[in-house]
Amino acid sequence: MSSRQWQVHKFGGSSLADAQQFRRVSEILLADPGALKAVVVSAMGGMTDALLNLVSSSELSADPIESGLSAIHDRYAATAGALLESEAGVAEVLNPFKADLRDAADVLHAVSLVGSAADRSRDLVAGFGEIWSARLLAAFLQQLSSQMADGPRVKWVDARDVLIVEHGEMGPGVRWDLSRENAAKRFDGASDDIAVMTGFIATDQDGLPTTLGRNGSDFSASILGALLGAQSISIWTDVDGVMSADPNRVPEAAVISDLSYNEAMELAYFGAKVIHPQTMAPAVAHSIPIRIRNTFKPSARGSRIGAEGGSTDQIKGITTVDDVALVNVEGAGMIGVPGTADRLFGALRDAGISVILISQASSEHSICFAVPASSAKHVKSVVRQAFTAELEQGLIQSVEVQAHCSIVAVVGDGMAGIPGLAARFFGTLGNAGINIRAIAQGSSERNISAVIDREHATRALRAAHSGFYLSAKTISVGLVGPGHVGAVLLDQIAAQAEHLRNEFSLDFRIRAIASSSRMCLAEKAIDLARWREIIAEDSEPLDWEKFTAHVNADHLPHAVIVDCSASEDVAGHYLDWFNQGMHVATPNKKAHSGTLAYYDQIHEARRRHNAHFLYETTVGAALPIIETLRDLRRTGDQIISIEGIFSGTLAYLFNVFDGSKPFSSIVREARDSGYTEPDPRDDLSGTDVARKLIILAREMGSRLELSDLSIESLVPDELQGESIDDFLAALPAYDEQMKKRWQAAHDAGKVLRYVGRLNKDGEASVRLEALSADHPFANINLTDNIVRYVSERYSDNPLVVQGPGAGPAVTAAGVFADLLRLAAYLGAAR
Ligand code: ADP
Ligand code: ASP
Ligand code: MG
Repeated sequence: MSSRQWQVHKFGGSSLADAQQFRRVSEILLADPGALKAVVVSAMGGMTDALLNLVSSSELSADPIESGLSAIHDRYAATAGALLESEAGVAEVLNPFKADLRDAADVLHAVSLVGSAADRSRDLVAGFGEIWSARLLAAFLQQLSSQMADGPRVKWVDARDVLIVEHGEMGPGVRWDLSRENAAKRFDGASDDIAVMTGFIATDQDGLPTTLGRNGSDFSASILGALLGAQSISIWTDVDGVMSADPNRVPEAAVISDLSYNEAMELAYFGAKVIHPQTMAPAVAHSIPIRIRNTFKPSARGSRIGAEGGSTDQIKGITTVDDVALVNVEGAGMIGVPGTADRLFGALRDAGISVILISQASSEHSICFAVPASSAKHVKSVVRQAFTAELEQGLIQSVEVQAHCSIVAVVGDGMAGIPGLAARFFGTLGNAGINIRAIAQGSSERNISAVIDREHATRALRAAHSGFYLSAKTISVGLVGPGHVGAVLLDQIAAQAEHLRNEFSLDFRIRAIASSSRMCLAEKAIDLARWREIIAEDSEPLDWEKFTAHVNADHLPHAVIVDCSASEDVAGHYLDWFNQGMHVATPNKKAHSGTLAYYDQIHEARRRHNAHFLYETTVGAALPIIETLRDLRRTGDQIISIEGIFSGTLAYLFNVFDGSKPFSSIVREARDSGYTEPDPRDDLSGTDVARKLIILAREMGSRLELSDLSIESLVPDELQGESIDDFLAALPAYDEQMKKRWQAAHDAGKVLRYVGRLNKDGEASVRLEALSADHPFANINLTDNIVRYVSERYSDNPLVVQGPGAGPAVTAAGVFADLLRLAAYLGAAR
């Protein structure tokens, strides 16, 4: 052998799908002409599947054989024709290919006659794909080389002449002695520069063609690396490296720049298809570093897999094994009886069922394990048969099989010895509303696995991925009511989005907006720079079911509805939303001040589904009024009374009303400046204030209905039913009456204030009161709210919360703060 050291480069099917990709691969291989390269190739993308499908369909009928092979012929011939310039060159590749197709046709016809394919027939046919791609790549490299001044010498090698394996219980085992001898003959660095070898295929102990199992070319590359004492093994594929999760399922997945063999092994075993688990052993034995690189982006560094893991990140990646079945064997008879597990797993081994995960509680009352879904049917009878006697005697009560499960696993060497990681993992799944059926953690602490329902796998993957800050915590948001508050909120979120993402790894995705009759939905997120146009031009009629399903998309772990409407109808949907595990954040008072029956129902549903309800802004906008009350109660204080001015509008009207101007004209001016509801009676009636009191009363534990409140309405009875204009026109007739109340108060050194009061006995009232001029409520800024809590702790000197309690900007900011609180509850970085 030459003194030059081999580099092994493996190209997967995803890098060899068409002529263009062969060109790209060749460019990579010819980039540094001096190096000695052993190249391992997979079949062209999809080829192995096509061949295996043909074998399976031939078991049923001979009909598809011809058309199947001719499709394969056409694809390969077209690729060869596009790459090779001379007719002779094309013929050199196509002639043996056609001979192979004839052999394949013979085998397939034999399969169709027998009606069943032996493993050997299947292996023989499946392995042609690698032979064809190796031959073609070598021929193309040769052609390019001949056009270069001092091009490399190229040849192709059939791996069946090199790799000898023995199939055992653990899969194919390499006969190193024989294989090494073969390799020494075929890989002669003195006379060749590039040797292209087929991946996937090998020869078995009987001298017959075999394969290394699906995706086995990675394994081929690593075996060859060990045989040649290679300096490195590069696995070229279609992604930038080993990613923190399957990028098809977690778009935010990021490349892991360095990982240990063990970490790569766990990730691969647990479903990260980018590298085959068996690849690691030969590389480890010879300490050969493995690089995973992107054929489509050769300049990217890729991932490096070696003895050391590189970074000290606790979690490197998250993967799933889909399609498993969970089996639970339960019975008091197992307690303290040695050998039960041995018999159980012995029976499974004898039946050829591989066990993916085992979990047994220390009570020994049950053993639970996961098997591939394909064994789900078989496994129950195997277990029942192994324990026939115990089942009859009632020592084992049940053998249950739960099909359609997945395993989600978090992997990282750095997890060892760090407390709280399992809690974080299970917590994130819990917060995403995912039920965990079984868990397992090996004592290496490199992997924690949870078995969940298959339908939740992607959601779980994303939740865990963001739960460990491998990607931003993504929250799917549906906004209802893009009116005054809603619109400002959207603008505020848009302005903060980048900051939230960078600083807190938080990604609020506004994926739906609903007005009273229309809605717009976006798969990823609505472009907040243009949401007004999108609603105007690209909306559809409102359909609550569709809206809800869209926001609560199964692939996104967390969904919240932000209700910025004041609508009772919308509040009527909360129950449904909580029942689906969605969260709700809202300044809408209707749900909380509606009937107690509904109030109880939504809170019960919210608790049952672990959902969050954020409604600080229903009272006093962003002022911490509800949270303060809760803190007092949670810390054991007893609230004696709560009083205050809860309406910015009414505060304004009575701050301005000093007897000089008629009350009706102050109302009219306030309305014109946007300080009142469009219909000022909504403010003047006192109902809005009463609703806020109800919310606080219920927060205090009082079971009050709106009808239990004594409310002094400032709307004369006779004007209740009038139109807004007629109401405003008729209001001056009552100015005299209002002026008299003002005068009486004034003469007594008092001022008029519209006050809400609530006490621990459940008495509540809202009314216009005359307060002495030095009363705290008499001295507030124009539209301020003020709330005074008297409690056991705050008795002599009450606790006061005061400040602007209305207006779109502060209300929206309050809702935004609630959303951030929600994110914190869900485990976002703080
Ligand atoms: P090749 O044909 O090159 O062997 P594969 O399709 O077998 O390629 O493997 C690469 C694919 O593995 C990627 O395209 C990606 O979809 C999938 N994959 C699954 N999990 C991961 C992961 N954790 N990191 C990178 N890729 C992954
Ligand atoms: N072509 C084989 C398969 O598809 C081997 C490989 O690509 O690694 O399984
Ligand atoms: Mg692969």
